[in-house]
Amino acid sequence: MPTRQEVDVLITADHLVTMDETLGVIADGAVAVRDNVIVGVGPQSEILSSFKAPDTYGGKGRAIIPGLVNTHTHAAMTLLRGIADDIPLKAWLEEHIWPAEKRWLDEEFVRDGVRLACLEMLLSGTVAFADMYFFDEVAGEVANEFGMRALLCSGIIDQPTKTTKDADDCLQNAEMLYERFRDDAIVRPAIGAHATYTCSPETLKKTALLARKRGMPITIHLAETRWEVQEIKSRYGKSPVKHLDSIGFLADDIIAAHCVWLEPGDMEILIERGVRVAHCIESNLKLSSGIAPVPRMLKAGIPVSLGTDGAASNNDLDMFGEMRTAALVHKGVCEDPTCMDAYTVLRMATVEGARALGLDGTLSPGARADMVVLDTGGAHMVPVYDICSHIVYSAKASDVDTVMVAGRVLVEDGRMLHTDEAEIIGKAHEWARRIRSNSG
Ligand SMILES: [Zn+2]
Repeated sequence: MPTRQEVDVLITADHLVTMDETLGVIADGAVAVRDNVIVGVGPQSEILSSFKAPDTYGGKGRAIIPGLVNTHTHAAMTLLRGIADDIPLKAWLEEHIWPAEKRWLDEEFVRDGVRLACLEMLLSGTVAFADMYFFDEVAGEVANEFGMRALLCSGIIDQPTKTTKDADDCLQNAEMLYERFRDDAIVRPAIGAHATYTCSPETLKKTALLARKRGMPITIHLAETRWEVQEIKSRYGKSPVKHLDSIGFLADDIIAAHCVWLEPGDMEILIERGVRVAHCIESNLKLSSGIAPVPRMLKAGIPVSLGTDGAASNNDLDMFGEMRTAALVHKGVCEDPTCMDAYTVLRMATVEGARALGLDGTLSPGARADMVVLDTGGAHMVPVYDICSHIVYSAKASDVDTVMVAGRVLVEDGRMLHTDEAEIIGKAHEWARRIRSNSG
């Protein structure tokens, strides 16, 4: 018998969903991981005879999928979860969220909020997220503490904030964030221009210039509401997409969140420039912003991933919920059950999200070892005819059993291995007590 190669970890499962076009779904599959990279993927008979490891995970009644990627969120806003619900976006922002942030936002708020977000995301199978908020260096420290991948988009906005007096201040923060995390293994610095209605053309041009000089991706809220489209048209005589294109802002380094209200010709510009879209269906539904024409975007070839947006407008960071809502809503809107099938939606939550963040998103040899093991034995998960359909339509965040990021197991048996969950949850209650007592 040939000698087996030593690896760090072997993971086995009844269903191995590689999301790799050649490898597909492997029944009774296994993955071998050495350092932080996948070195073997295939049937268990093959992998277990080629590799041996001191640690094994998974087993019967399990499925392995690539880690989920949340391409648009504001992680620290978990502390404002449910603070103001059932009101329109503009009033929600201007009368509730911005005043609460003005009063409470500081390093401690961001640290505790991002910790809660990382806890919630990891326990629900998310391995990487694109974040846009304030005190990004604190968010980066937390992501490192958890071992979770993050694209930290340093916030750019014209109006004064708790940490900045104008957009130039914001740009300086973005430079500092770049210097701090440029060589980080787990965190990637980026820029988050808030929106076309909160950033002047001058600010947006400076943002694009800095981003491209440093090779940082840019995220922006784009065409989220009808109000935004009308406002930008009245200011500049163009749709938000055309306005951004006219100032040279759009390119393949842009992750545009929302894109609900696209005007004729906008989609062609997004394709031409290679812009990626982060679809945030639950946030758009909850704030009644509208429903983005995602099936049309996909048909046109626009890369679309999924984002939860902040917990204050969702109200959770659960990508399983996001997948299911996206898959169901568009079918209803299009009156066509074929417009976004389960595999397409799972692809949006894995491969497309990973690519937007500069990662692989598949389980294939050479890819980064970011994966999730699901328990498929629950009453709501059996029997299994089509595992991809199950993941989108039946699975719940609570089915997440094991989460590995960069070859390191962070969640086992549905519990955090290196984190004090109770302490983080206790802090969240403390913040709510403080915030409530002040505003009540
Ligand atoms: Zn957002």
